[in-house]
Amino acid sequence: MRIDVLTIFPEYLAPLSQSLLGKATARGLVSIGVHDLRQWTDDVHRTVDDSPYGGGPGMVMRAEPWGRALESVRLPGARLVVPTPAGRPFTQQVAARWATEPALVFACGRYEGIDQRVADWAAEAGPVEEVSIGDYVLAGGESAVLVMVEAVTRLLPGVVGNAESVEFDSHADGLLEGPSYTRPASWRGHDVPPVLLSGDHAGIARWRREQSLRRTAQRRPDLVAQLDSASLTAAEQLV
Ligand code: SAM
Repeated sequence: MRIDVLTIFPEYLAPLSQSLLGKATARGLVSIGVHDLRQWTDDVHRTVDDSPYGGGPGMVMRAEPWGRALESVRLPGARLVVPTPAGRPFTQQVAARWATEPALVFACGRYEGIDQRVADWAAEAGPVEEVSIGDYVLAGGESAVLVMVEAVTRLLPGVVGNAESVEFDSHADGLLEGPSYTRPASWRGHDVPPVLLSGDHAGIARWRREQSLRRTAQRRPDLVAQLDSASLTAAEQLV
């Protein structure tokens, strides 16, 4: 997968070369380009913002540098992702859908965001999604892009060592994952649930499923409400 990020703070994206993602890049599973938007400005001050039409506080990112940057960086048909608190929610399902695509371009906004015409114009050349990573307001799109790129790339085949761990993660099937434990079996008066030490694989699978349902019901009743009842057994529907 090819990922391009446009930003006025390229150094903010340095974590993209660390850890799992750094290894995935080294192995050729992902290739990432981070580009300074200011290289597409046309004035000596390398200006990327201007005051908003209609008045109001703050500044808006100008369409001109964004238009040139996208013409230069975006591969034909590549999805453009515009992070914004006013976007549709970014979820695991969105990450899974994007993980099947050959290329993504991320446009990091700052100030009051990017002139709306950039997304409108870019939609003429390929898919554009304005997405939010949560109901709060960040200072810029860079940290949102770090979140989204990590969520997408760990779903690419070969990036996470054990594919099963991705399959059983929270949100993969609409539920939260239950608790995990490792050695020792007893720690400071807290014991690992005995079933996990039993060697009874079917029993362990049943316990994990029950814990997952219970945790989801307690912490995220909104997710339970969204579950397709066909994906729950009759007994589970009563949990
Ligand atoms: N005036 C905008 C609004 O109220 O919708 C907020 C702009 S915010 C201060 C600046 C930039 O941070 C946005 O353009 C976007 O790139 C990023 N941003 C802030 N919160 C975000 C969120 N929850 N999800 C994704 N991106 C966000």
